[in-house]
Amino acid sequence: MPGIPLRNGGTAARIAVIPGDGIGKEVTPEAVKVLRAVAGSAKRPMEFIEFDWGADKFLREGVSLPVGAIEILRDEFDAMLFGALGDPRVPSNQHAADILLGLRFKLDLYVNARPVELLHDRLTPLRDRTEKDIRLMVFRENSEGLYVGVGGFFKKGTADEIAVQEDVNSRKGVERIIRYAFEYARHNGLKRVCMSDKSNAMNFAHDLWQRVFKEVRPEYAEIDSRHLYIDTLAMEIVRDPRQFDVIVTCNLFGDIISDLGAQLAGGLGLAPSGNIHPGKTSLFEPVHGSAPNIAGKGIANPLGSVLASAMMLEFLGWKPEAVALREAVRAALQENHVTPDLGGEKRTQAVGDWLAERVEVKLK
Ligand code: ATP
Repeated sequence: MPGIPLRNGGTAARIAVIPGDGIGKEVTPEAVKVLRAVAGSAKRPMEFIEFDWGADKFLREGVSLPVGAIEILRDEFDAMLFGALGDPRVPSNQHAADILLGLRFKLDLYVNARPVELLHDRLTPLRDRTEKDIRLMVFRENSEGLYVGVGGFFKKGTADEIAVQEDVNSRKGVERIIRYAFEYARHNGLKRVCMSDKSNAMNFAHDLWQRVFKEVRPEYAEIDSRHLYIDTLAMEIVRDPRQFDVIVTCNLFGDIISDLGAQLAGGLGLAPSGNIHPGKTSLFEPVHGSAPNIAGKGIANPLGSVLASAMMLEFLGWKPEAVALREAVRAALQENHVTPDLGGEKRTQAVGDWLAERVEVKLK
């Protein structure tokens, strides 16, 4: 999927690498290996600085996101390549919330971009669908909604307990994500934008989404814009994904619909995402978590992280390199040079080595 924002005019890039926990520590080095091959072949400088934030550090030092980390990332880096967080030794997942939500909220990464792109026909569970049928982008609002943590308990632990979770939607927040979706479509020559909400039931919060959508859409008259309730969208995207180019929705619905999309395009091991603030330090990560059940076995699929790296390259303005990287992933799928979750026999590192060689040849 092509991207929009150029962070630094496409010259040198400084990348913060945060592998995190579990298989994050296995897939991220492979993505960095491939990125080094890309940068070397393209003769463009790319610097990687690794940060050891995650469960080990949290358990050892009681530190999740160190003091000053946000400022350093904001001022000294172009982008972050993130692995995954989550460890059975930290049942509360406190460190994960501190780090990932801390970065998303404090760096105001308001766009969660989740491309849904089928890279090989055999990977979709949908009958008779092929690569050309499943190619869309989901933009999830990433800075407010039900995820801001506003709410509370009343009479907690009693039979009369009440729990309240507020859905926070600001006009500015709704407008900027809707505009981003339209701009993305315009910039990439895509013809259709679908805004999805539940305004028939959520008649305050999503009434705002309706009004903002109606105000913004006339500015993009060349784009066919439509609205679907989220339940209808869930049905339609499975029935016929060819209807969609760009989908924009709130934080909660975006979380769910993009996971549905991930399954349509081959599952968690392949799905990438970007947490973006246009023009500012942004974060790219595979969609999957730390997968403790397979961590340390050397069989984690690194393609989600590699595809997230391709998104990062686009964000940095390295377009030809991003295309080459995506082609290399496509070739790995064609030749079944993949890990067991995709039906292959390769180990994580072997997939990384193969991709690095492939992009080197491609970019020479
Ligand atoms: P978390 O709580 O951190 O999100 P999780 O284990 O609950 O982690 P995921 O890691 O997202 O959930 O993945 C669920 C399952 O999917 C894993 O247990 C694993 O079996 C499989 N899986 C996820 N990512 C990969 C991958 N990159 N390669 C192979 N299998 C994967």
